[in-house]
Amino acid sequence: MSSDGNEEKFRKSQEFLSRVTSFIKGKIALAYSYQSEDTVALDMLLKCGLKEFEVFTLDTKKLFPELAEYHQVIEKFFGISVGRRFPDAEEERKLEESLGEFGMRESLAARRRCCRIRKVNTLARALNGKSAYVTGVRASQSVTRAGIPPLEYDDQFDLIKINPLFDWSEDDVSAYIAKHGLPQNPLYAKGFRSIGCAPCTRPVKEGEDLRAGRWWWESPDQRECGCMIKYKEGDAQNAATIKLG
Ligand code: SF4
Repeated sequence: MSSDGNEEKFRKSQEFLSRVTSFIKGKIALAYSYQSEDTVALDMLLKCGLKEFEVFTLDTKKLFPELAEYHQVIEKFFGISVGRRFPDAEEERKLEESLGEFGMRESLAARRRCCRIRKVNTLARALNGKSAYVTGVRASQSVTRAGIPPLEYDDQFDLIKINPLFDWSEDDVSAYIAKHGLPQNPLYAKGFRSIGCAPCTRPVKEGEDLRAGRWWWESPDQRECGCMIKYKEGDAQNAATIKLG
């Protein structure tokens, strides 16, 4: 896309986010995942000039060590505090006892149990009392995200979900980051194109899909933690029976 095309998209997305957030009563949140999409969404949210909002990250206790320093880079660059939200300590202890370091790779059920305790339940607690949350989700990221709308009601967390980058490409994200000189997660320079927990994320090879490095042992239509996309009806039963190699 030409830079004019990028500019037009950036302007429209910013206008959309500013307009929508101006109508929302109550607190707006952004769950920051250390990915470029969220860095863009955060930059745009700050430009909305809201008086009340909260930015936090889900510290699953399985994050890459590089993110500890990058967390500080982000806070310093934007001049904000990014809260860390942790899984329930007792649930996490039992999970670690039963799955160990890599047990989440043994079955879809195990992996989803880990994601539920470390991510989904933590996100639910963090979003409690909020009216809306902003995401950096893009429809072209994966088959699981195709067709996401710019604005939706999230019945899993009972609040409004705003996806200002819903129609952006990976190149749009890179162009925005470059234009505004935003920080980039150091893992991108090591070949990662989508970043999650350390045991479940690997760099992708030339020609591979953007999210091929996330839960790479599963099929593409299963690669979601359950925060952004709720599992479909019947998945819980399927998860209990499917064994993946
Ligand atoms: S991404 Fe992996 S380590 Fe992180 S919560 Fe999900 S299964 Fe657990």
